[in-house]
Amino acid sequence: MHVEGGQLNMAKIKPERHSMPRQEAQVRRHNFNEVALGYTMETAMAEAERCLQCKKPTCIDGCPVQVRIPEFILALRDGDMWGAVEALKDKNNLPAVCGRVCPQETQCEETCVLRKKFESVAIGRLERFVADWEMEQGVRTPEVAPSTGKRVAVIGAGPAGLTCAGDLAKMGHAVTIFESLHAPGGVLMYGIPEFRLPKAVVGTEVDYVRSLGVELKLDAVIGKLHTIDEILASDYDAVFLGTGAGLPMFMNIPGENYNGVYSANEFLTRTNLMKAYRFPEYDTPVMIRPRVSVVGAGNVAMDSARCALRLGAEEVRIVYRRAREQAPARLEELENAEEEGVILNFLTSPVEILGTDDGWVRGIRLQKQELGEPDASGRARPMPIPGSEYELEVDMVIMAIGTRPNPLVFTDAPDLERGRRGTAVAKLDTGRTKKQRIWAGGDIVTGAATVISAMGAGKRAAADIDAYLKDPDQPWWVED
Ligand code: FAD
Repeated sequence: MHVEGGQLNMAKIKPERHSMPRQEAQVRRHNFNEVALGYTMETAMAEAERCLQCKKPTCIDGCPVQVRIPEFILALRDGDMWGAVEALKDKNNLPAVCGRVCPQETQCEETCVLRKKFESVAIGRLERFVADWEMEQGVRTPEVAPSTGKRVAVIGAGPAGLTCAGDLAKMGHAVTIFESLHAPGGVLMYGIPEFRLPKAVVGTEVDYVRSLGVELKLDAVIGKLHTIDEILASDYDAVFLGTGAGLPMFMNIPGENYNGVYSANEFLTRTNLMKAYRFPEYDTPVMIRPRVSVVGAGNVAMDSARCALRLGAEEVRIVYRRAREQAPARLEELENAEEEGVILNFLTSPVEILGTDDGWVRGIRLQKQELGEPDASGRARPMPIPGSEYELEVDMVIMAIGTRPNPLVFTDAPDLERGRRGTAVAKLDTGRTKKQRIWAGGDIVTGAATVISAMGAGKRAAADIDAYLKDPDQPWWVED
């Protein structure tokens, strides 16, 4: 840290953060290897030098799981790598994931004090560096508390479920995760592509959670295999629902049933989880046609567009009804997509998908939009411009306009209250639902959000489950 005579010497701090080495855009658009290559030890230590080690670290307030950020950066700066790992993983069970996909620019890095004058410390890149360093050495398992004799069922092995399970296991509870897919990780595994988040990284972090003693039951669809009530009746003291929001939404415009229209979920699941990009080595194919339009401008849309490019599409276009500034994707991902050659059409919305006589997509009818007053989301509302419709020739359309919770988990659970958009109603500070001994958190409660917000919910629920199991006579539900 640059302190002289008790005063911070800002002149010695490098105003810009150290840049992240990346594969060249023209090279990476043809492969699925990771785009961001990671810091070297030398760069990481130099970046760690930029941290002011604030007495009141506002960066921690910006982190939904309250990572001890200055402590891990200080240990890194001093070359105490295991100390850095310990400080980082004390609060975060999935740091190599978060270091890659968290929107740090709107969280810990946004509240970094350095940002008042300079670029914030690259906290996410340092987090990734420390987590990757540990993976190279071999991940260590911390000691867990002695067994409490209590059993908790966690439904869903996404970031919410894995975090909740990992924390409960550290507290000494016996945890079983029931996951419907054949691989754990949730969206980290089936949605986010290899070039942003290598599956080996997800696998290592899932193995860490397992090493804490968590049992993982795969191919276990709750709502079909067992109902929630059956699980509660079968010797579990508590249930956490972390089943996410994996049900795709469509626009309900004419033509959505033509061959060549995919939901982003199906397209990405085939490509990533089922490894269609390595077909026929893996036996799931994915269709790819020369001209692809992706509807939406969130991370899901960018991932779909960039996968389509890598799979060989000649022209890939994002179509989004609002302006660039309102695009929900991380800025970095929008820029990455653009650099790779994805065309971005803002203030444009599809009104119809056009088809051939034999039922294949041949085009898309679009309508230009202008921005009006803010809507319920607080963003300027897109308003159609009458008479501005035009047609574009495309052969494939991917819908990436949002998702909702899959209702399957609620089968035979009429007493679990649900929100208007099919979400589970639960307290945000504890995860408690109105049904005793059932907690919920992550996308199933908030709707599609972020990895770290799901992890934060999993963490808060784990703390509350622990408190409840120690004192089950407390009142279950108190209206706010
Ligand atoms: P999920 O990750 O959806 O996990 C839920 C798990 O529950 C799944 O494994 C599912 O198979 C399982 N499940 C569902 N129903 C059942 C059932 N009935 N029985 C048993 N198991 C069940 N966020 C970011 O922060 N940064 C990003 O860059 C980013 N990119 C994204 C890209 C894509 C393509 C997508 C789709 C999302 C992205 N997100 C990103 C959002 C983020 O991934 C999610 O907010 C987060 O994964 C939610 O975590 P979760 O644990 O609540 O749910």
